[in-house]
Amino acid sequence: MKPLLPTSTAGSLPKPAWLAEPETLWSPWKLEGNELVSGKQDALRISLQEQQQAGVDIVSDGEQTRQHFVTTFIEHLSGVDFENRKTVTIRNRYEASVPTVVGPVSRQKPVFVEDAKFLRQQTNKPIKWALPGPMTMIDTLYDAHYQSREKLAWEFAKILNQEAKELEAAGVDIIQFDEPAFNVFFDDVNDWGIACLERAIEGLQCETAVHICYGYGIKANTDWKKTLGTEWRQYEAVFPKLQKSNIDIISLECHNSHVPVELLELIRGKKVMVGAIDVANNHIETPEEVAQTLRHALQYVDADKLYPCTNCGMAPLPRDVARGKLHALQAGTEIVRKELAKNDC
Ligand SMILES: [Zn+2]
Repeated sequence: MKPLLPTSTAGSLPKPAWLAEPETLWSPWKLEGNELVSGKQDALRISLQEQQQAGVDIVSDGEQTRQHFVTTFIEHLSGVDFENRKTVTIRNRYEASVPTVVGPVSRQKPVFVEDAKFLRQQTNKPIKWALPGPMTMIDTLYDAHYQSREKLAWEFAKILNQEAKELEAAGVDIIQFDEPAFNVFFDDVNDWGIACLERAIEGLQCETAVHICYGYGIKANTDWKKTLGTEWRQYEAVFPKLQKSNIDIISLECHNSHVPVELLELIRGKKVMVGAIDVANNHIETPEEVAQTLRHALQYVDADKLYPCTNCGMAPLPRDVARGKLHALQAGTEIVRKELAKNDC
């Protein structure tokens, strides 16, 4: 049984400095071979322990075994040439050199299933596993084979479904698809993005989530946010269709963001992972700041469907800051739980 307002993180947490360069995205590994394998497992254990010590209810691997939330998954697939790189604009925002799709994409073997089994062995708490969403995957590649964003997304959805089914069998309780691209390509999301996501979760019995955020606290993202004006209404374009979709949980950025909280009304009925921790700065929220964000969300999300969470992954933050933010999330949640319990009497 989960408590009321079960807490979790959006996914990534900082890695130890002996494993990878701190405060860096796409940070290269500092170990090799068997040392890297056991180093990743040790980091996963530490990350889990930090979540459990903070009291996080739904735990994750902290994405300790992957270099990047999209690239690491794609690296394991065939049909993508990582030597053959092209520069593309990611999410209409920043240029990056990306691998090329050169043939039919397929998954020759499981990507994260062994890691998920390892996490499952370490804890009895519910576990959540993040995978990249199909639309976000195609946005980080140059496609020289399908020549169609939709076709490639559909192929990735099938591959993600294979992986998701094996993660479920490994004991994962919630499978989350990260779709920051849903905040950018609204027409595509409504035309085929959500359908692809539903293909990715086809046949799953476990809970499913989609994480839609405004990205890590890196410069390209914070610069982009400055152009969005005082009200961020991006969610408005995709919420009506998501509300009707088969996805169980929607994970959103709500703290310090300019998202009008009343937009949550558009997904009433869904479980909502409410981002109550800002990942774009090093200020550790006070419990009261967290509580305030949760109270606002409670106007539009029923208490039994509200899951306090972080706005996005915390991989680029200093470790002590990330730890502090986990504790703040829990303390703020505790305040609101007490308030709800009082109202019940
Ligand atoms: Zn995110």
